[in-house]
Amino acid sequence: MQDLLPRQKEIFRHIEDTIRGVLSSYGYQEIGLPVIEFTSLFSRLVGEATDIVEKEMYTFDDRNGESLTLRPEGTAGCVRMAQENGLIFNQVQRFWYAGPMFRHERPQKGRYRQFDQIGVECFGMAGPDIDAELLLMTYRMWQALGITDTVQLELNSLGSIAARSTYREVLVAYLETVRSDLDEDSQRRISTNPLRVLDSKVEKTRDLLADAPRMGDYLDDESSAHFDDLRRALDQRQIPYVVNPMIVRGLDYYNKTVFEWTTDSLGAQGTVCAGGRYDGLVEQVGGRSTPGVGFAMGLDRLAMMLDEKFESTAPADVYIASLGEIARTFSLMLAEDIRNTLDTCRIVVHCADGKLKSQMKKADTSGARVALIVGEDEIAGGEVTVKHLATGDQHTITVAELTEHLSKLLSKE
Ligand code: ATP
Ligand code: MG
Repeated sequence: MQDLLPRQKEIFRHIEDTIRGVLSSYGYQEIGLPVIEFTSLFSRLVGEATDIVEKEMYTFDDRNGESLTLRPEGTAGCVRMAQENGLIFNQVQRFWYAGPMFRHERPQKGRYRQFDQIGVECFGMAGPDIDAELLLMTYRMWQALGITDTVQLELNSLGSIAARSTYREVLVAYLETVRSDLDEDSQRRISTNPLRVLDSKVEKTRDLLADAPRMGDYLDDESSAHFDDLRRALDQRQIPYVVNPMIVRGLDYYNKTVFEWTTDSLGAQGTVCAGGRYDGLVEQVGGRSTPGVGFAMGLDRLAMMLDEKFESTAPADVYIASLGEIARTFSLMLAEDIRNTLDTCRIVVHCADGKLKSQMKKADTSGARVALIVGEDEIAGGEVTVKHLATGDQHTITVAELTEHLSKLLSKE
């Protein structure tokens, strides 16, 4: 689990603000979800045989002896919330949420045990148009963040739930013929989660998969038409993508469209956003069958992509230095008065002793453009010294004139 230092947190905030702006331009509404759910929600919806449920969840008994889990992903909780609050039946919804997720994985660059996601979930829309909207919207987010050149879209269709299970049988038959050459995890998955084998990172297994049957050849007509429509919409907006038959997603709930936005700039942890359609999920939480589709993006990985180019903003516009006990108290009150009028002005007050020289050094590192110097003589005369930090110019003005003067100084760039 990582600590976020001010610069990192600023990058996260920038990403979230940018994405929030795009989401609102598509009419998506933010929701808040608990960080803890009953364990059974994830084992049922994400699937017993997935990596997440098999080995990654933080699960514990609470004081009532109930098994709870720190959420490893947001979709299950969102579907539960929407169903429990009657937000799904006969309605169309576009939701988003942001916050931490928890998975007990091996920590490494781009992979943490607590990480942040922004997730989007849509309900009540069965057609390819909403899939297209999600991808066009995501593309717009990359544009707004300035990273379209470093991400690429990989798409696949898993077909209807029936087509997927036919394919599963064909795939299992193939995997049995190469069983002894597969890695251990993949051998085990033949019976538990054979589609997941396609997602294997083991090179030898990947080579063997080159000859495996392809989902694309087993798609039902409806899923095939759905996939074609989606691709046409992307072509129309000239959004580049590749169809990658190996994209299956590790979770049980997906059908039809699945996708990942990946990058080469982060080494092995290359997926920055992933999602797809989950038309069977609402029924699984006891609702009437309702189509759903969504995605989640990893903020930690996006932040790593932006890190090099991101320019942090220093915390202050104005730094107030003071000399002597009386001036120190005065400067604190002066800052309050300025904030009453200039409510976006960022003022840092020097709250400690110190020689003027060392206070001015702090003023420089604070990023402030203006320093105010308050001394006892100035207070007696109802004045303060204003110092322009870039030029070193300084002059004295009356406290009464100060806010107007500052407002003019700071609005000039
Ligand atoms: P991966 O294949 O990298 O393990 P995943 O398929 O487990 O990813 P999802 O469950 O689809 O990931 O989560 C969506 C996004 O959340 C990922 O694309 C990634 O950006 C981010 N993410 C997932 N797990 C982690 C993690 N442990 N640390 C940081 N980010 C993560
Ligand atoms: Mg994972």
